[in-house]
Amino acid sequence: MLEIENFDEIIIANWKLYGSSSFIEEYLDQIKFYGSKSQGRCVIICPPSLYINQINYKNVFVGAQDCSAHIEGSYTGEISAKILKDIGCQFCIVGHSERRMLFNEDSQIVGKKILNCFQNNIIPIFCVGENLQQKKEKLTKDIIKEQIIKSLPNNANKKNIIIAYEPVWAIGSGLTPDLDEISKIHMFIKDNILKDKNIKILYGGSVKANNCKDILNLEGVDGLLVGGASLNIDEFNKIIGT
Ligand code: PEP
Repeated sequence: MLEIENFDEIIIANWKLYGSSSFIEEYLDQIKFYGSKSQGRCVIICPPSLYINQINYKNVFVGAQDCSAHIEGSYTGEISAKILKDIGCQFCIVGHSERRMLFNEDSQIVGKKILNCFQNNIIPIFCVGENLQQKKEKLTKDIIKEQIIKSLPNNANKKNIIIAYEPVWAIGSGLTPDLDEISKIHMFIKDNILKDKNIKILYGGSVKANNCKDILNLEGVDGLLVGGASLNIDEFNKIIGT
Protein backbone atom coordinates (compact mmCIF):
# COMPACT_ATOMS: atom_id res chain seq x y z
CA MET A 1 0.00 0.00 0.00
CA LEU A 2 1.11 3.55 -0.69
CA GLU A 3 3.03 5.04 2.26
CA ILE A 4 0.93 8.14 2.81
CA GLU A 5 2.65 9.03 6.08
CA ASN A 6 5.75 9.96 4.06
CA PHE A 7 4.05 12.78 2.15
CA ASP A 8 4.38 16.33 3.53
CA GLU A 9 1.04 17.41 2.07
CA ILE A 10 -1.90 15.73 0.38
CA ILE A 11 -4.12 17.62 -2.04
CA ILE A 12 -7.32 16.01 -3.26
CA ALA A 13 -9.57 17.04 -6.15
CA ASN A 14 -13.20 16.05 -5.68
CA TRP A 15 -14.87 16.46 -9.06
CA LYS A 16 -18.30 15.50 -7.67
CA LEU A 17 -20.77 14.75 -10.51
CA TYR A 18 -18.85 16.66 -13.18
CA GLY A 19 -16.48 15.66 -15.94
CA SER A 20 -16.42 13.94 -19.32
CA SER A 21 -13.85 12.10 -21.46
CA SER A 22 -12.99 15.32 -23.29
CA PHE A 23 -12.69 17.25 -20.00
CA ILE A 24 -10.27 14.60 -18.70
CA GLU A 25 -8.18 14.81 -21.86
CA GLU A 26 -7.96 18.59 -21.56
CA TYR A 27 -7.29 18.39 -17.80
CA LEU A 28 -4.44 15.89 -18.10
CA ASP A 29 -3.00 17.87 -20.97
CA GLN A 30 -2.93 21.10 -18.98
CA ILE A 31 -2.29 19.99 -15.44
CA LYS A 32 1.11 21.13 -14.26
CA PHE A 33 2.42 19.20 -11.34
CA TYR A 34 6.15 18.91 -11.31
CA GLY A 35 9.21 20.50 -9.77
CA SER A 36 10.20 20.68 -6.14
CA LYS A 37 6.65 20.55 -4.76
CA SER A 38 5.97 17.22 -6.45
CA GLN A 39 8.56 15.57 -4.18
CA GLY A 40 6.70 15.79 -0.89
CA ARG A 41 3.22 16.45 -2.17
CA CYS A 42 0.60 13.83 -3.02
CA VAL A 43 -2.09 14.87 -5.50
CA ILE A 44 -5.17 12.65 -5.80
CA ILE A 45 -7.92 13.17 -8.38
CA CYS A 46 -11.36 11.76 -7.55
CA PRO A 47 -13.49 11.80 -10.73
CA PRO A 48 -16.87 10.07 -11.08
CA SER A 49 -16.04 6.34 -10.74
CA LEU A 50 -16.53 5.44 -14.40
CA TYR A 51 -13.62 7.73 -15.30
CA ILE A 52 -11.14 6.35 -12.75
CA ASN A 53 -9.28 4.36 -15.39
CA GLN A 54 -8.89 7.42 -17.60
CA ILE A 55 -6.86 9.33 -15.00
CA ASN A 56 -3.38 8.34 -15.93
CA TYR A 57 -0.80 10.98 -15.14
CA LYS A 58 2.67 10.71 -13.67
CA ASN A 59 2.83 11.64 -9.98
CA VAL A 60 -0.95 11.92 -9.64
CA PHE A 61 -3.02 9.29 -7.83
CA VAL A 62 -6.64 8.42 -8.38
CA GLY A 63 -9.49 7.96 -5.93
CA ALA A 64 -13.23 7.30 -5.89
CA GLN A 65 -15.81 9.62 -4.33
CA ASP A 66 -17.68 6.84 -2.53
CA CYS A 67 -18.03 3.07 -2.29
CA SER A 68 -20.80 0.71 -1.30
CA ALA A 69 -21.26 -0.43 2.29
CA HIS A 70 -21.46 -3.94 0.74
CA ILE A 71 -18.70 -5.98 -0.84
CA GLU A 72 -20.87 -7.97 -3.26
CA GLY A 73 -24.43 -9.19 -3.71
CA SER A 74 -27.76 -8.08 -5.07
CA TYR A 75 -27.22 -4.34 -4.74
CA THR A 76 -28.04 -2.91 -8.16
CA GLY A 77 -26.11 0.21 -9.06
CA GLU A 78 -23.54 -0.06 -6.29
CA ILE A 79 -19.74 -0.05 -6.69
CA SER A 80 -17.74 -1.91 -4.05
CA ALA A 81 -14.31 -1.22 -2.60
CA LYS A 82 -13.31 -4.60 -4.05
CA ILE A 83 -14.20 -3.48 -7.58
CA LEU A 84 -12.51 -0.11 -7.06
CA LYS A 85 -9.32 -1.89 -6.05
CA ASP A 86 -9.61 -4.22 -9.03
CA ILE A 87 -9.60 -1.26 -11.43
CA GLY A 88 -6.54 0.29 -9.79
CA CYS A 89 -8.09 2.81 -7.42
CA GLN A 90 -5.97 3.55 -4.32
CA PHE A 91 -8.15 6.03 -2.40
CA CYS A 92 -11.85 6.53 -1.70
CA ILE A 93 -13.70 9.49 -0.14
CA VAL A 94 -16.08 8.19 2.52
CA GLY A 95 -18.73 10.04 4.54
CA HIS A 96 -18.76 13.23 2.45
CA SER A 97 -21.46 15.55 3.81
CA GLU A 98 -23.33 15.40 0.48
CA ARG A 99 -23.61 11.61 0.92
CA ARG A 100 -24.63 11.99 4.57
CA MET A 101 -27.31 14.60 3.75
CA LEU A 102 -28.61 13.62 0.32
CA PHE A 103 -28.27 9.83 0.61
CA ASN A 104 -29.01 9.45 4.33
CA GLU A 105 -25.69 7.90 5.24
CA ASP A 106 -25.20 7.61 8.99
CA SER A 107 -22.03 6.93 10.96
CA GLN A 108 -22.68 3.18 10.99
CA ILE A 109 -22.77 3.05 7.18
CA VAL A 110 -19.69 5.27 6.99
CA GLY A 111 -17.90 2.89 9.39
CA LYS A 112 -18.76 -0.11 7.19
CA LYS A 113 -17.41 1.68 4.12
CA ILE A 114 -14.16 2.45 5.93
CA LEU A 115 -13.80 -1.23 6.88
CA ASN A 116 -14.50 -2.31 3.31
CA CYS A 117 -11.75 0.02 2.12
CA PHE A 118 -9.35 -1.44 4.70
CA GLN A 119 -10.17 -4.98 3.61
CA ASN A 120 -9.36 -4.08 0.02
CA ASN A 121 -6.24 -2.02 0.69
CA ILE A 122 -7.88 1.23 -0.34
CA ILE A 123 -7.07 4.30 1.75
CA PRO A 124 -10.33 5.97 2.85
CA ILE A 125 -10.53 9.76 3.03
CA PHE A 126 -12.96 10.00 5.93
CA CYS A 127 -14.91 13.31 5.98
CA VAL A 128 -16.24 14.88 9.16
CA GLY A 129 -17.64 18.30 9.99
CA GLU A 130 -20.44 20.31 11.54
CA ASN A 131 -23.35 22.03 9.81
CA LEU A 132 -24.25 25.69 10.27
CA GLN A 133 -26.83 25.08 12.99
CA GLN A 134 -24.39 22.94 14.95
CA LYS A 135 -21.73 25.63 14.57
CA LYS A 136 -24.15 28.29 15.85
CA GLU A 137 -24.92 26.07 18.84
CA LYS A 138 -21.18 25.70 19.47
CA LEU A 139 -21.37 21.94 18.94
CA THR A 140 -18.54 21.66 16.40
CA LYS A 141 -16.15 19.68 18.60
CA ASP A 142 -18.91 17.39 19.93
CA ILE A 143 -20.18 16.61 16.44
CA ILE A 144 -16.74 15.82 15.07
CA LYS A 145 -15.89 13.67 18.08
CA GLU A 146 -19.12 11.71 17.72
CA GLN A 147 -18.62 11.21 13.96
CA ILE A 148 -15.08 9.93 14.49
CA ILE A 149 -15.83 7.71 17.47
CA LYS A 150 -18.84 6.11 15.76
CA SER A 151 -17.07 5.35 12.45
CA LEU A 152 -13.34 5.01 13.01
CA PRO A 153 -12.28 1.37 13.37
CA ASN A 154 -9.82 0.48 16.16
CA ASN A 155 -7.18 -0.54 13.66
CA ALA A 156 -7.18 2.86 11.91
CA ASN A 157 -3.70 4.38 11.82
CA LYS A 158 -1.53 6.90 9.98
CA LYS A 159 -0.80 4.36 7.22
CA ASN A 160 -4.32 3.29 6.33
CA ILE A 161 -6.62 6.35 6.59
CA ILE A 162 -6.78 10.11 6.01
CA ILE A 163 -9.32 12.35 7.76
CA ALA A 164 -10.79 15.47 6.11
CA TYR A 165 -12.31 18.19 8.26
CA GLU A 166 -14.99 19.80 6.11
CA PRO A 167 -17.38 22.23 7.81
CA VAL A 168 -20.63 21.56 5.91
CA TRP A 169 -21.46 25.30 5.77
CA ALA A 170 -18.13 25.99 4.05
CA ILE A 171 -18.61 23.51 1.21
CA GLY A 172 -19.36 25.29 -2.05
CA SER A 173 -20.37 28.47 -0.20
CA GLY A 174 -17.26 30.62 -0.60
CA LEU A 175 -17.11 30.84 3.19
CA THR A 176 -14.35 29.39 5.36
CA PRO A 177 -13.75 29.38 9.10
CA ASP A 178 -11.12 31.83 10.40
CA LEU A 179 -7.61 30.45 9.94
CA ASP A 180 -7.18 30.25 13.68
CA GLU A 181 -10.40 28.24 13.98
CA ILE A 182 -9.29 25.73 11.31
CA SER A 183 -6.01 25.15 13.12
CA LYS A 184 -7.72 24.79 16.51
CA ILE A 185 -10.15 22.17 15.22
CA HIS A 186 -7.38 20.19 13.53
CA MET A 187 -5.32 20.24 16.73
CA PHE A 188 -8.39 19.23 18.74
CA ILE A 189 -8.91 16.22 16.47
CA LYS A 190 -5.23 15.27 16.68
CA ASP A 191 -4.72 15.80 20.41
CA ASN A 192 -8.09 15.02 21.95
CA ILE A 193 -9.71 12.50 19.65
CA LEU A 194 -6.97 10.63 17.80
CA LYS A 195 -4.36 11.09 20.55
CA ASP A 196 -1.00 9.68 19.37
CA LYS A 197 -2.25 8.10 16.13
CA ASN A 198 -0.65 10.76 13.88
CA ILE A 199 -3.35 10.36 11.23
CA LYS A 200 -3.18 13.07 8.57
CA ILE A 201 -5.98 15.65 8.61
CA LEU A 202 -6.90 17.68 5.54
CA TYR A 203 -9.05 20.80 5.43
CA GLY A 204 -11.90 21.07 2.90
CA GLY A 205 -14.51 23.77 2.21
CA SER A 206 -14.19 26.63 -0.32
CA VAL A 207 -10.45 26.21 -0.80
CA LYS A 208 -9.28 28.41 -3.69
CA ALA A 209 -5.97 29.54 -5.15
CA ASN A 210 -6.10 32.70 -3.04
CA ASN A 211 -6.53 31.00 0.36
CA CYS A 212 -4.78 27.64 -0.10
CA LYS A 213 -1.35 28.78 1.00
CA ASP A 214 -2.53 30.31 4.27
CA ILE A 215 -4.55 27.19 5.08
CA LEU A 216 -1.73 24.79 4.15
CA ASN A 217 0.66 26.68 6.42
CA LEU A 218 -1.52 26.22 9.50
CA GLU A 219 -0.43 24.03 12.37
CA GLY A 220 -2.33 20.74 12.20
CA VAL A 221 -3.25 20.98 8.50
CA ASP A 222 -1.72 18.18 6.42
CA GLY A 223 -3.37 19.00 3.12
CA LEU A 224 -6.53 20.08 1.32
CA LEU A 225 -9.70 18.56 -0.09
CA VAL A 226 -10.78 20.75 -2.98
CA GLY A 227 -14.19 20.57 -4.66
CA GLY A 228 -15.32 23.33 -7.03
CA ALA A 229 -11.88 24.86 -7.55
CA SER A 230 -10.46 21.50 -8.66
CA LEU A 231 -12.68 21.63 -11.77
CA ASN A 232 -10.97 24.78 -12.99
CA ILE A 233 -7.60 23.71 -14.38
CA ASP A 234 -5.85 27.08 -13.92
CA GLU A 235 -7.12 27.37 -10.38
CA PHE A 236 -6.15 23.80 -9.49
CA ASN A 237 -2.71 24.23 -11.05
CA LYS A 238 -2.17 27.20 -8.78
CA ILE A 239 -3.31 25.20 -5.74
CA ILE A 240 -1.09 22.18 -6.39
CA GLY A 241 1.85 24.41 -7.32
CA THR A 242 1.56 26.74 -4.32
C1 PEP B 1 -15.93 19.17 -1.30
O1 PEP B 1 -16.70 18.85 -2.18
O2 PEP B 1 -15.47 18.32 -0.54
C2 PEP B 1 -15.57 20.57 -1.16
C3 PEP B 1 -14.73 20.92 -0.23
O3 PEP B 1 -16.13 21.46 -2.04
P1 PEP B 1 -15.72 23.01 -2.28
O4 PEP B 1 -14.23 23.05 -2.36
O5 PEP B 1 -16.39 23.37 -3.56
O6 PEP B 1 -16.22 23.77 -1.11
